Amino acid sequence: MAEIRLVNVTKKFSDVTAVKDVTLTAMDKEFIALVGPSGCGKSTTLRMIAGLEQLTEGEIYIGDINVTQMSPRDRHIAMVFQNYALYPHMNVYKNMSFGLTLQKCPKDDIESRINDVAGILELYGLFKRKPKELSGGQRQRVAIGRAIVRKPKVFLFDEPLSNLDAKLRVHMRGELAKLHERLQTTSVYVTHDQIEAMTLADRIVVMEKGEIMQEGPPLEVYNNPQNLFVAGFIGSPSMNFLDARAEKENDILYVTGDGFKFTVPEDRRDRYTMALGREVTLGIRPEHIFDRDLKGPFPGAEEMCAKIEVYEPMGSQVVLRSVCGSNPVVASVDPLTKARAHHDITFLVNTNKMHLFDKETKKVY
Ligand code: ATP
Repeated sequence: MAEIRLVNVTKKFSDVTAVKDVTLTAMDKEFIALVGPSGCGKSTTLRMIAGLEQLTEGEIYIGDINVTQMSPRDRHIAMVFQNYALYPHMNVYKNMSFGLTLQKCPKDDIESRINDVAGILELYGLFKRKPKELSGGQRQRVAIGRAIVRKPKVFLFDEPLSNLDAKLRVHMRGELAKLHERLQTTSVYVTHDQIEAMTLADRIVVMEKGEIMQEGPPLEVYNNPQNLFVAGFIGSPSMNFLDARAEKENDILYVTGDGFKFTVPEDRRDRYTMALGREVTLGIRPEHIFDRDLKGPFPGAEEMCAKIEVYEPMGSQVVLRSVCGSNPVVASVDPLTKARAHHDITFLVNTNKMHLFDKETKKVY
């Protein structure tokens, strides 16, 4: 069993706290992704699991073993980096076999392991090439192959796809997903790319300023962000944030703001009543805003008038950048829309999908 457990882990670099009191478990066979903006502490967390960085406080366990003071080599971990870190003077076969030779693994065993891995990663035919004779995707496959042949207990990935072009990234993302399904090795994957995190991981861990903001299955985090940071970070285009107030009139609860007045759906009334009298931020994802001319009424639909500033045809949808009162609003609508820049539009907002955050605490209601 190779569960990874971080208990109250803190890392300070002189006066910078890179990781602050992080407690986190990757269960056996689980694939978790650490995601967050540059400098939030993802790589430092990964490097501490690998043993490349000493902890300032806390403990790390792999399986039942406390590895906090253990050298990287004894942790049975394989790490894949964004810059591949292949040995330039060795061919593909040597790159993959080198670690095993150092471990004094028998030659037959090395050969059969490398052949297995070459089959999985389609590396046959490349054995004799040097890294400079490979494409970016091939190099990354060799780097992954080199990690797999060691049969590690745990895989750590640090932005492994970020040097690849967009198309290859998507392809390799699929390859990594298949690989995990096949090998079922506990994995921790660091990325600032939320799409990569959401599509690959069983569970995502959103970090900011060294702290965990939220963790959970990707769709759970997408559908129920617990605070403004996670709401704004997960989802593309990003969630719209509008200045708002909760108000009660004739016993009906509304969320109102400059240019909109939405009746609060019944299942949210208790929660949103707590927001009465508070400064709040209304969150609506662009995909929950529709062009009224193309969408019939539906439960929870509320109108919002806006002026379109920019029309962006993306193929499968059109992104409309608009302004509602004083609030910028981005809508991702059906490409059949007749809406164009500089015209007014009436949107339908699905209020069953709205989110309300407290401006002061930044937490969701
Ligand atoms: P990125 O996506 O840009 O790689 P990250 O989320 O992986 O960012 P870390 O590399 O973990 O972030 O860095 C977290 C914080 O710790 C940053 O403020 C960084 O400047 C700081 N830091 C990281 N390594 C060191 C170091 N060796 N010495 C001093 N400060 C460091």
